[in-house]
Amino acid sequence: MRYNKNDLVTITIEDIGHDGAGIGKIEGFIIFTKDAVIGDIVRARIMKVKSSFAYAKLEEVVTPSSFRVIPLCSFHRQCGGCQLQTLSYEKQLEYKQNKIRNNLIRIGGFASDLIDNVMQPIVGMEEPWFYRNKAQYPVGYDKLGKPITGFYAGRTHDIIANTDCLLGDKRNKEILEIVLAYMKANQITAYDEKTGTGLFRHILIRNGFYSGEVMVSFIVNSKHKIELKKQHELVEALSKIPGMTSICINLNPERTNVIMGNEVHVLWGQGFINDTLHVNNERKLNFQISPKSFYQVNPRQTEKLYNLVLEYADLKGFETVWDLYSGIGTISLFMAAVAGKVYGVEVIKEAVDDARMNAHNNGFDNTEFYSGNVEDILTVKCDKADVIIVDPPRKGCEARCLEAMIKAKPDRIIYVSCDSATLARDLQFLCNNGYELKRVQAVDQFPQTVHVETICVIAKSNVSQASRDDEAIHPAKQKGLEE
Ligand code: SAH
Repeated sequence: MRYNKNDLVTITIEDIGHDGAGIGKIEGFIIFTKDAVIGDIVRARIMKVKSSFAYAKLEEVVTPSSFRVIPLCSFHRQCGGCQLQTLSYEKQLEYKQNKIRNNLIRIGGFASDLIDNVMQPIVGMEEPWFYRNKAQYPVGYDKLGKPITGFYAGRTHDIIANTDCLLGDKRNKEILEIVLAYMKANQITAYDEKTGTGLFRHILIRNGFYSGEVMVSFIVNSKHKIELKKQHELVEALSKIPGMTSICINLNPERTNVIMGNEVHVLWGQGFINDTLHVNNERKLNFQISPKSFYQVNPRQTEKLYNLVLEYADLKGFETVWDLYSGIGTISLFMAAVAGKVYGVEVIKEAVDDARMNAHNNGFDNTEFYSGNVEDILTVKCDKADVIIVDPPRKGCEARCLEAMIKAKPDRIIYVSCDSATLARDLQFLCNNGYELKRVQAVDQFPQTVHVETICVIAKSNVSQASRDDEAIHPAKQKGLEE
């Protein structure tokens, strides 16, 4: 049967797609329906037809799924942030576990028996709300020309006005309302992507979970340092928010989707935020975090994640550990508490400065941080590692990075990933070059969304490796697919 745009269909939702949409089938023809929950029977309107599948819009839930829950946020359907709010948290965890399992089998080429043997139950959150310590709010106008801030609607850059996101810190609302009132009173313009005009682009808020500190950064469309109109009034109002320690301005004059620019100026307080993470509920590590540095967004889960990485690294005290993509040195310092020597590699210079400062402030003298691309540094600086921890961005590791990792002949590699598809691709390469998959552990860093963090442990396999060392070729390179 051939479907056309605007046809109404009744379908049972049998699965969840990688972006959270419900998947139903009619005689083998797949229909993706956003906002439909696995187990629902829904009426859906076909919006776009392709040869073997179609996208549809949810019109009516005929029989709700037993996994359907009442969403807490009234914007959940429009907002692109939470794709899974109507799915029970237990089922969200099951979905994430399956997503990782499927990617490892389909993309990584691992046998399903092996995955079922090495995969541990996912670590979820006790209270899966208000967990984010960082939020970036785009600034724009409503239809009446009033400044607004909130979140982008799914797959667009249309802003949905909402100062009260249930994933973020409860203090964010008050901060955003102060900034919007200030903009309105002083005719401060909002940035317009289409014309490249207007001043305020984004408002970035960071919170220290344990420290209670708050940092606000205004990302503005300006090449040069500027004094905002009635800046003192804005700063005075914000500085009264409990915990406020830092108010900054970041200059981003580029016509780009990248949120932050290069230059940061402190308007009030300090130029960074502090927070604490606990090693096994015992030792406290304090971290200084600059506006441009990466820091995991879910601090309660981050402690669980890092403690698992430490456990899997299985350090005895003599080891040389390399922490690749080290950010501000968080994982590095968890390891340094036990390892002989830890080397970190990170491309953002400010983050490397933070990492060195953090090592010093926490009393470590067995760490060294290199600033630059992992693929360049590792090749030149690392001959031999006992353990490698690797925590790349979503696109995973470049071929040169994986090749250098193999050359360093570590006993174990702990791969921490926020994208199980690129994780699977990279693990396949490592496991074709002398390593074996030993453990897979998911940690839910991002409840209500489709994203999930995975820790994988691979160890040297018993097969003799010497003959293969010089032949290491990344699968993407073989296929000419390298980015
Ligand atoms: N392990 C850290 C950071 C992980 S996020 C933590 O848990 O906090 C990934 C980090 O990799 C970011 O800090 C990013 O700036 C850095 N990065 C991205 N590409 C890189 C590259 N090619 N070489 C080195 N660092 C890179």
